[in-house]
Amino acid sequence: MKTSLYNWQVSRQGTNIIYNCFTGAMYQLDEEHAHFGDILEQPGINPSSGIFDESSLKALESAGFLIADDFDEKSHLEDLMESARSAGFMKLTVVITRKCNFRCSYCIQGSGVQDDSVIGENQLRNMRNMLFDLAPASIHTTLYGGEPLLYPEACFKTLETVKTVDPKAMAMLVTNGYLLNRDMVRRLCDYGVVAAQITIDGPEAVHDKRRTTRDGSGTYKTVLENTLQAAEHMHVLIRVNVESDMEFDYTSFRKQFESNERIFVYRAPTTYNHQGDSERGSENFHSIETNTCGEEVFSKKLNARFPGCAITTRMCAVILPEGKLVRCWNQVQDPSDSYPISKSGLFSSHEAWRQWNPFSITKCSECKMLPICGGGCPDRYLKTGVPSCRYTKEGFETFIFENFKARTR
Ligand code: SF4
Ligand code: SF4
Repeated sequence: MKTSLYNWQVSRQGTNIIYNCFTGAMYQLDEEHAHFGDILEQPGINPSSGIFDESSLKALESAGFLIADDFDEKSHLEDLMESARSAGFMKLTVVITRKCNFRCSYCIQGSGVQDDSVIGENQLRNMRNMLFDLAPASIHTTLYGGEPLLYPEACFKTLETVKTVDPKAMAMLVTNGYLLNRDMVRRLCDYGVVAAQITIDGPEAVHDKRRTTRDGSGTYKTVLENTLQAAEHMHVLIRVNVESDMEFDYTSFRKQFESNERIFVYRAPTTYNHQGDSERGSENFHSIETNTCGEEVFSKKLNARFPGCAITTRMCAVILPEGKLVRCWNQVQDPSDSYPISKSGLFSSHEAWRQWNPFSITKCSECKMLPICGGGCPDRYLKTGVPSCRYTKEGFETFIFENFKARTR
């Protein structure tokens, strides 16, 4: 019997929690058992006999905090991730347009690919043919931009096209929220949209300086109103872009949404790509206690999951409005390595990424967050040779604690 490599102990606000990041098990320790946390947190040790009473031992074993001596957790996790990579699930992102109705102060909108294209019939026909050829077991679609809601009909046609292949397909939307009015929400829900990611950069005064319309007007009031009414019908992830020198009280900002179970607020470094490559973002990232846990909000069970970024999986595609296919969201502004929208195009695009494996990176392979993190952003690792951790330790502990609160709410 030995301790798992993936045990955590988090003590906050008088609550002592143990959590296993592989199985997702989470227990609250009472005073009598509080000492278990320190023992379990040491990876791979054989706790001396008699330390756990019989019923605790059984519970800890069945929850994966304690494992058999000959059980190789790492290879088991690697096998799981490898099979998830070849699963029949399709992760589809459709860039409706690169155009945007905002002019955010930190955004490079317009300095990447300059084009006015909007996803249209030809692209959707190719996409449908590709999906039919691939025949995925299920499809999860993300509508992306630019601002996808500039072209609502293109959004609906895209979702309709996906549904011809997977009638139960669910979708989400990445939007600035300005056009997400009541009618739009209702229609999106009819097409299977279950969540939206919206950016609100803190309180009104901060947000309105950073996220403006083209004529420089503030957008906070409209975005907040739309966010609250959208959350009556779908999950809303509020992303707050942060920099270490930003002056506002994030905790108070977040508190205003605390009672709404459909709204989840998280911080991320200010970036113009979604994984923190901008100078402003990456420099400041680790100095901020951050908590970038977007997708997990849908699942209260925090166990080993998808192998990090979906680009390493067999069926992952980003469809560009000009009718090309890439894999990574960072390639939307730089699609130099693009492929035709077809089954063979998709499989060719897989070649470069399939070699990436967090188990061959020492820091990741030894990391207690690996089952959830999946090794960070492959694109950044391949460009820099350094793992781009999705979480800081403190951020991850906050994440565990918040998850505990959500489970016991
Ligand atoms: S490789 Fe990185 S930037 Fe590209 S989609 Fe994955 S996480 Fe995002
Ligand atoms: S990227 Fe960082 S947090 Fe993620 S598994 Fe690797 S070392 Fe851990």
